[in-house]
Amino acid sequence: MPPAVAAEKPRAQEMVLLGDEAVARAAIDAGVSAAYAYPGTPATEILEYVLRHSGRFGRPHAAWCANEKTAYEEALGVSMVGRRALVCMKHVGLNVAADPFINSAIVAIGGGLVVAVADDPSMHSSQNEQDSRFYADFARVMCLEPADQQQAYDMTREAFDISERFGIPVVVRLVTRLAHSRAVVRAAEARSENALAKPAARDSWVLLPSNARRLWKRLLEVQPQMRELSESSDHNRLDLRGKSGGAGVITAGIARTYFEESVSELDPRPSHLHVGTYPAPADKIRQLARHVRRILVLEDGYPFLERQLLGILAPALEIHGRMSGHLPAAGELDPDIVRRALSLPRSEGASLPHPRLPARPPQLCAGCPHGDSFAALAKALSGYEHALVTSDIGCYTLGALPPYSAIESCVCMGASIGMAKGAAEAGLFPVVAVIGDSTFLHSGVTPLMDVVAAGADVTVLILDNEVVAMTGAQPTLLPTGRFGAMAQALGVAPEHVHVIEAHPRRVDDMAAVLRREIEHHGPSVVVATRECIEAAKRRKAAAR
Ligand code: SF4
Repeated sequence: MPPAVAAEKPRAQEMVLLGDEAVARAAIDAGVSAAYAYPGTPATEILEYVLRHSGRFGRPHAAWCANEKTAYEEALGVSMVGRRALVCMKHVGLNVAADPFINSAIVAIGGGLVVAVADDPSMHSSQNEQDSRFYADFARVMCLEPADQQQAYDMTREAFDISERFGIPVVVRLVTRLAHSRAVVRAAEARSENALAKPAARDSWVLLPSNARRLWKRLLEVQPQMRELSESSDHNRLDLRGKSGGAGVITAGIARTYFEESVSELDPRPSHLHVGTYPAPADKIRQLARHVRRILVLEDGYPFLERQLLGILAPALEIHGRMSGHLPAAGELDPDIVRRALSLPRSEGASLPHPRLPARPPQLCAGCPHGDSFAALAKALSGYEHALVTSDIGCYTLGALPPYSAIESCVCMGASIGMAKGAAEAGLFPVVAVIGDSTFLHSGVTPLMDVVAAGADVTVLILDNEVVAMTGAQPTLLPTGRFGAMAQALGVAPEHVHVIEAHPRRVDDMAAVLRREIEHHGPSVVVATRECIEAAKRRKAAAR
């Protein structure tokens, strides 16, 4: 058994960190042995911080993974042998990892397992604004929601202890504004990593129905202890003001900051409960409810607490929030929205001139290889009245916009290929699926298997630019150049697999290849290769 590795010393006690980095730093200081992730905004910077740290100090182990499910499973393996693990993802990544996440709630977690999830209310770079607190509730595990960067640090450290105490994975939920803003964070003393320890009871990890029923019961039995922890947690502060019958405010996560910015202007000051841990502290909520006439709920994301309040409180109490229409149903909160909900006038910020600027929709970089692939695809499909091009998530999703208008869908990672198969089987011809290299490895391999097994009439265009470009040029998991061989290994006939350079000089050649394969009735794969321009620039700058 390898010896435990002592944490490096000395190091600064105060650092200026992004919310994401505060989570990473806390995990390192909590003695995490390994961290895994798939890049996704706004969570990418968590693993990037851990990778930089391991590059300097040799620990903890940190790695990008094929997708969030594999990342979760790898972290789970670390936990199974007694060591602490961190797994990070954006909110939609938790959909991909949902199977191991929900099931791991009932195994006997060994080393602390923390799931850092960054939600993206207002969808700054996401396809929905789902709220990960529902996932934690669904799995019946605890969720901690920091209000600022210091709490992101403190709560992440605490999450490892809670995970080990109850034998559950613990979710730390961030939102974009917290993940991507910086503040001073005071770090606590670093702790060494756990010793290796295989699970004492093997049947606590084998989810055969007989074991699973027993383990599910155990998870239900610890629910009251989780609620008790929430009730007594310092993260949930109740501040009752004035005589009873006034107004009350419940804040969750970063909404506390917005509330605190304005509260001094309120007279009388409302009673206030801040909620930072879930299950929500129901007794504190009832205490507040007994003291006030109405409650405004300020929370970023879905009306998670507001809905729970309806089940906790007497129907006579007025509850204001997103469901009642006192706050917008969609989008992130901001200080002005909160001021309006508190019946305060709009804050008087500095007034800036508003010059008339032309609209500048997002665009592919000049010289991006995807532009050449889209040009070739447009040529290959010219003359077909009903052609369908399904696509996926990456820089190439910008191909939906003019001047390309080249793709017609982007739903979730890997969906392009499965959707193309469905459309082809519904009778549409021709159908092309466009998918990036990293997205193909993340979730495109299995639907291509379906295409091959069914002999479906689908042409898959894999855009291999050698990196995960959209999230900052992280390396694609497998070296470039493997996709042709992979397609053949999955059963696509070798004569219908082509690898071609995506270059302005080769547009006509690529168009001809694509046209031929589109007209072939059966599965075909065309891999368009050329390094992302931005990644090439970074690579050259690093080599100087
Ligand atoms: S970052 Fe790379 S892949 Fe993305 S648009 Fe720019 S050149 Fe293209």
